[in-house]
Amino acid sequence: MRLLLVEDEAEAARMLSKGLREQTYAVDLATTGPDAINKTHVNQYDLIILDVMLPGLDGFTVCRTLRRAGHTTPILLLTAQDEVASRIKGLDSGADDYLTKPFDFGELTARVRALLRRGPALTHNTFQVADLKLDTRKREVRRRDRLIPLTAKEYALLEFLARQQGTVIGRAEISEHVWDETYDPFSNLIEVYIQRLRKKIDLPSETKLLHTRRGEGYVLGVLATDD
Ligand code: CA
Repeated sequence: MRLLLVEDEAEAARMLSKGLREQTYAVDLATTGPDAINKTHVNQYDLIILDVMLPGLDGFTVCRTLRRAGHTTPILLLTAQDEVASRIKGLDSGADDYLTKPFDFGELTARVRALLRRGPALTHNTFQVADLKLDTRKREVRRRDRLIPLTAKEYALLEFLARQQGTVIGRAEISEHVWDETYDPFSNLIEVYIQRLRKKIDLPSETKLLHTRRGEGYVLGVLATDD
C-alpha cells in the first residue's frame, strides 16, 4: 500500500518513512501543504499521514482542501497539542483519525493498519486465498502450514493482489500502490517480482494461485485457465 507522509521536520520525516518502508509500505514524502496537495493530484494514495504544523498551509487546511476536492483517501492527522479543541478541529476538517506527538511508532502502524482495513476480504488482519494465508500484522505468509519467507516488496505486492483477489490488476495500478514515486514505468520490475513471488507461493505440486492475464495484468485466485 502506498502512503503519503506530510512532515516538514527532516529528522522526523526520515525516521517515519524508514520505519514505514520497513513495514513494507511504499512512502512518498511531502514537506509542505501545497506539495502534499500537488502529490495527491498526481498519485493515488491509500492513506495520508498529515502533520498539522506545517509551513504555509497547515494540516487542517490541507485536509479540508482535499475533502472539498472529493478525495476520500483516509487521513491520519499528527497533532502537537493534545487538546480537545484541536482534535475536534481535526475531525471536523475531514480527518479519519489523529495521533498526538510524541507517539509510539507501534501505535502509528496499528492506526495505519486500522485505516487500511477496508474491503470485504480482510477480517481480523488476515487475507485468505484458497490455502494461502496472509497475516497483515506479522506480515507472514503461509501456504497450508508452509511458512513462505518474502522480502518487504514481495510481501507488499502479494498483499495488494490479495486485497483484490479474483480481480485482474493492471501494471499501472500495481505501480501506483506498491511502489513510490521513484518507480520507473519503463522498467520490468513488476514482472520480475511477479516471477519471484510465483516461485515462492506456487510450488509445482500446488494449485496455481498467481496468474498472468496477457495484456491486462495479474490476478491472485483459483482460476480454471491461465494465459
Ligand atoms: Ca511539523
